[in-house]
Amino acid sequence: MAEYICPHCKKPNFDDDALRCIYCGEFLNRRIGFLSDIRYSHVATAFIVILLLSFIVFFIIRL
Ligand SMILES: [Zn+2]
Repeated sequence: MAEYICPHCKKPNFDDDALRCIYCGEFLNRRIGFLSDIRYSHVATAFIVILLLSFIVFFIIRL
């Protein structure tokens, strides 16, 4: 099981599924990191789609 250091009391939490620190009761902010990863992957997907569309438009103009 992975150790997670609480940002508030600096104590290690060993429960992977815990949303709150077992020592001080504050929210562990690792879920926010997970959500930002999803947002970044959406941005990357949108960038690839725009790149592909611009390539398609470029080839249509050349024909
Ligand atoms: Zn804590």
